[in-house]
Amino acid sequence: MKVTSSDIVTSAVKPDQYPNEQFPEIALAGRSNVGKSSFINKLLNRKSLARISSKPGKTQTLNFYLINEMLSFVDVPGYGFAKVSKSERAAWGKMIETYLTTREQLRAAVLIIDLRHAPSKDDVLMYDFLKHHQIPTILIATKCDKIPKGKWQKHLKVVKETLNKDPDDPIVVFSSETGQGKEEAWRVIREFTS
Ligand code: GDP
Repeated sequence: MKVTSSDIVTSAVKPDQYPNEQFPEIALAGRSNVGKSSFINKLLNRKSLARISSKPGKTQTLNFYLINEMLSFVDVPGYGFAKVSKSERAAWGKMIETYLTTREQLRAAVLIIDLRHAPSKDDVLMYDFLKHHQIPTILIATKCDKIPKGKWQKHLKVVKETLNKDPDDPIVVFSSETGQGKEEAWRVIREFTS
């Protein structure tokens, strides 16, 4: 897709702070450091709209990005940081659960995982949560530039098996470094938002 405009609209922690606009929304989730900000920036052709490697412990908010005045990405704070306190984790859980289960214009979630490794326990929990709530899920297997192309299928197999992936959920091999998978990612996102 040709992105002509993208901007952060708002940051929110609770529903009365969500934007009022009715644009279709795509939530983006993944463990911290997986490459979620890089994915967002790559798709939006921006260098640093989404903050790369923002430090944990900072205010954890849902960040709404409006794209071409027609759809939004909602960046969900990354999970899996060991240092986060129990109460912070509970607040994070409630914030994303509320958003994911109540937002009417949410069309799909993009779950970003690392193609190099088997999905973590937290990845599996997040995927199960999305499936449990029947939220259409697009899987992005990122950092594919770090492994030779000849091994992608083998790694994909491990990812699919570990997640017990629903065969209907699209999975896109991706790299923010090379741009591999960018058009395919947009194509599947547009299927849910047009
Ligand atoms: P986030 O915490 O999920 O938002 O992750 P970031 O986008 O901040 O990326 C974490 C680190 O991984 C940074 O050092 C990025 O430069 C690196 N990174 C992200 N995506 C890729 C990728 O596709 N390939 C490679 N080689 N590195 C990546």
